[in-house]
Formats: sequence, C-alpha cells, structure tokens
Amino acid sequence: MDVWRTVELSARLRTAGLRATGPRLAVLDALIRLGGHRRADEVHSHLTGQGRDLARASVYNVLRDLTAAELALLVDVGSGVTLYEVGGTFHHHFVCRSCGSVQDIACAVGTPPCLRPDADAHPGIASLDEARIVFRGLCSGCGALRGSALLP
Ligand SMILES: [Zn+2]
Ligand SMILES: [Zn+2]
Repeated sequence: MDVWRTVELSARLRTAGLRATGPRLAVLDALIRLGGHRRADEVHSHLTGQGRDLARASVYNVLRDLTAAELALLVDVGSGVTLYEVGGTFHHHFVCRSCGSVQDIACAVGTPPCLRPDADAHPGIASLDEARIVFRGLCSGCGALRGSALLP
C-alpha cells in the first residue's frame, strides 16, 4: 500500500474511532479494492494472494470492528451467508435466487427505518431503528437464460 493510501485509510479509521492497526488497514484496503459484497474468506484469500500473512480469525475480528464502527456494512442475504461491503449510504439488497449475485437497491425513504410494523399489533416493540429489506428474484442474466429455456 503506498504512503498516501495508508495516510487516507488511517484517517478514516481514526475518524471512526478506531486505532489504525496493520490488520485494519489491510482489511479495509482489501474491502475497497474488491468492491461489491464479499465473504470474509474472499477478503482473507485476497490478502493471502498479496502475500499478507493474516490469520482468518483476524480478518473476521477486523471485519467485526469495521462493522461496529460503520466503516463496513454487514449484508445478511439469508441461508447463513454473511457478506461485507464498504460502509456508505444506507440501502437494501436484491439477491438472485439462481446465481446468488447481489445488487444494491436504493432505499426509497432514505432514512431507516423505512418500514414500520403496526404499533398497535406489536406492543412488545419499544423502539425500532432499522428495517433491512432483501428482494429476491432472478437477475437479468439468469432471467435471460431462463427465457431461452436453458434453465428449468
Ligand atoms: Zn442470477
Ligand atoms: Zn450493498
């Protein structure tokens, strides 16, 4: 990582209240470079591929720290798969049922929670601050394949 990149990412970490440790810099850099929505083991193998000897457990720990500091967002796409992406504007996700690809969906409201259950029907909820929506269907690639009858 060049010196300016290190300076910039260190500043991002400190602004979020985290010390700029080597593993945090490496994982944040990897998440930005990889882009999109990534599994922790993808981040780990990216780093290993670059010759960085970082234990898998450290990558998980750093991702947890980055998520807590909102520098990373955790994306729960269901079926036990947890993905991470660089923190930014709050948004929802579309997951393709066929290939599992993930797309960002802008939140129509913009500020969470964009959905509220009927308060009268749910007296057990004292306060609510977020609703994350996962849209499911077929991505355009899989939809085109299915259209041409290559898929059942
Ligand atoms: Zn697809
Ligand atoms: Zn996203």
